[in-house]
Amino acid sequence: MKDFIAALPKAELHLHIEGSFEPELMFEIAQRNQIEIPYKTIDEVKKAYQFSCLQDFLDIYYAGAGVLIQEKDFYDLAMAYYQKCYENNVIHTEIMFDPQTHTERGIAFETVINGLQKARLDAKEKWGINSLFIMSYLRHLSEESAFETLKQSLPYKDLITSVGLDSSEMGNPPAKFKNVFEASVKEGYIPVAHAGEEGPAEYIWEAIDILKVARIDHGNRCLEDENLVQEIVKRNLALTVCPLSNLELRNTDVMTNHPLKRLLDRDIKATVNSDDPAYFGGYMNANFQAVQEALDLSKEDIITLVKNSFNYSFATDEQKKYYLEKVYEAVADFN
Ligand SMILES: [Zn+2]
Repeated sequence: MKDFIAALPKAELHLHIEGSFEPELMFEIAQRNQIEIPYKTIDEVKKAYQFSCLQDFLDIYYAGAGVLIQEKDFYDLAMAYYQKCYENNVIHTEIMFDPQTHTERGIAFETVINGLQKARLDAKEKWGINSLFIMSYLRHLSEESAFETLKQSLPYKDLITSVGLDSSEMGNPPAKFKNVFEASVKEGYIPVAHAGEEGPAEYIWEAIDILKVARIDHGNRCLEDENLVQEIVKRNLALTVCPLSNLELRNTDVMTNHPLKRLLDRDIKATVNSDDPAYFGGYMNANFQAVQEALDLSKEDIITLVKNSFNYSFATDEQKKYYLEKVYEAVADFN
């Protein structure tokens, strides 16, 4: 199964570029920018990664992002992730970035987007990887701040496909961002949002009814509400599920209890993703392997998950057709 997973081309739909920041690169960039970080060795950083909830994780995540200053830093960060895509046979990826994590500390929006865009072009050239950008608003900040970010993004609108909503979920329901999502959709951005990761099923209702999302990030807790499950199926909304993240953040106690299989059994279009792989212990193949082993997923299940990732991506219909052919080829070659 491990080889089968590795052999399949995949799409990743839920990945925070700041969450792919490996300790080694963080050290290198901190040194280059002469920024003090509160850890003397890479091992100390790794120890700090042993968090017990979303907020503890976010604290170290923002500390790490604080060393990113120059356009080249964002370029290097993204190229390191694209390299992992190449190694994991990810041929299409939809990358979330948090402008506010950087603009709040005085880094210009254009520095961030230009670094990411250069990496996107180079990754396409070097490895043939296609990618889209999802600009995510930080939900622990105000809607006004999100509006400011929307405004800053407009000169780069052609480079950004979608808007998302991430960071501390509890106490920051989707409804808080109703107006900025409406305005974002008017600008042509496709709306997605994190919902039902730590937050209740009610937040998923808000994401689909108020923010009118095209896809739900996480969404695991929909299983607590039978009407919601039916509604998600009826509206044909996909979930971007992140197994290792769920385990690390204790949203799942042990992987054998992970809801992925139950979601598939309810005909929900689930996908597998790595979320913040540098922090949660693995990229795409590791996520697939962990959940395959724990839930005893069949080859058919894996193929369904991979097909979902392409079908529910924001790629063009033509691209999707090409991707699915690649999947069928890989399956045939493997047998
Ligand atoms: Zn996420």
